[in-house]
Amino acid sequence: MAINIKRPNGTEDVLPRDIHKWHTVEKIARETAESFGFGELRFPTFENTDLFLRSVGETTDVVQKEMYTVMAKETKFTLRPEGTAGAIRAMLQNGLLNEALPQRIFYIISCFRHERPQAGRLREFHQFGLEMAGSPSPAADAEVISLAKKILDRLELKNIELHINSIGCPACRAKYHEALRAYFEPHKDELCDTCKERLAKNPMRLLDCKSPEDREIAKDAPVILDYLCDECSDHFEKLKRYLDNAGIDYTIDPKIVRGLDYYTKTVFEFITTEIGAQGTVCGGGRYDGLIEQLGGQHTPALGFGMGLERLLLVMDKQNCDYLAPKKCDIYFATMGDEALEKAMSLTAQLREYGYFAEYDLMGRGLKAQMKYANKIGAAFTMVLGDNELADGKAKLKEMESGEETVINLDDKFEATFEEIYFNKMLDGIDDENGSLFAFTGEDK
Ligand code: ATP
Ligand code: MG
Repeated sequence: MAINIKRPNGTEDVLPRDIHKWHTVEKIARETAESFGFGELRFPTFENTDLFLRSVGETTDVVQKEMYTVMAKETKFTLRPEGTAGAIRAMLQNGLLNEALPQRIFYIISCFRHERPQAGRLREFHQFGLEMAGSPSPAADAEVISLAKKILDRLELKNIELHINSIGCPACRAKYHEALRAYFEPHKDELCDTCKERLAKNPMRLLDCKSPEDREIAKDAPVILDYLCDECSDHFEKLKRYLDNAGIDYTIDPKIVRGLDYYTKTVFEFITTEIGAQGTVCGGGRYDGLIEQLGGQHTPALGFGMGLERLLLVMDKQNCDYLAPKKCDIYFATMGDEALEKAMSLTAQLREYGYFAEYDLMGRGLKAQMKYANKIGAAFTMVLGDNELADGKAKLKEMESGEETVINLDDKFEATFEEIYFNKMLDGIDDENGSLFAFTGEDK
């Protein structure tokens, strides 16, 4: 019986032929975060549901509509819809916040949200994210924003704009909430049902509503920047100065409120218009109250999440370079059992040094083996038969140029191969104008 089970809607398979794209983004993000002093954190895919209710916020889209929650025996668990809540939970539970501050962690994770699937909006998606805890200074905001920018620059992405805003602290927000209520009250009946409820509980959430009608109503709503207290206003001014000093361009966008409740002061997004409506590739901000809310000491903190599927959509669209996919370095074509055994031992020798080496496992004839070597794009091939074994020598063929070199099948085999291999790679770099991305041999 044929299996007819498909992957769930809104999820994706990544095939080996595309994995180098993910590796490129992950490598660059990881290296950049490490160069800013961040260490990798791994934490569970699911957490107690309460963790998200208390952090992400009960009136957000994420909590109201998007969480995957299961009842396991007596306990409610939720697949993480974002990284910050779990990361902070892990930092608190493991005492990291009692160690030297600032504490800086990053993660590469899958997240789960029950949304309507479309390009750049999935039900299982992946994020590179990071959190910095301990610093109240706007210099920390500038640092985290520069880090995100550095990753986008190192990936050679173009036309991505940084939008920043401040959504103040609970003190300035109280006055702002009043102003918002006064603005939306006359339109109450026209709002979507969710927003009717938000108007009473959390009016700032109205600004994050995706419904076009509500957006139209919200068009002229009061902006938070006019309600900031002195401290929040000073924080925002300093951040702008630090970004100016660093030569980082930004647009002040009072419409950004972010989809999660825990943010305070700085919020930011990196946005592109090149992949349709889901153009926010990175979103983040400061959340000075969250750690206390989750049971820790008052600890100012901030972070961001970068959507990796969206990033890859932009990279594909802009024809960005990826690390070269792993390709076969050498394929041994064999004739007869003895040759097969020789190929096994030579392959083992080369693999010891990190080469990608292969021989025939399908019992194919010589012609079919060479066809296969071509198909997989092997850089070199070597035919082994009775004559080669008797002579203790065989021809190493460089597939691209067709050039052949006779080399000894002795204990210097690996060293001889390495020399020829590196010469070819160096030629390759010249051809590619020195781009490191084209250099498959970089890990050897
Ligand atoms: P959006 O407004 O696009 O729904 P969000 O405010 O819900 O985004 P965050 O919770 O800040 O998003 O998540 C950080 C990043 O993760 C987003 O900027 C985006 O790049 C990515 N992201 C969020 N939701 C999805 C999704 N359903 N599918 C793919 N990527 C997503
Ligand atoms: Mg969302």
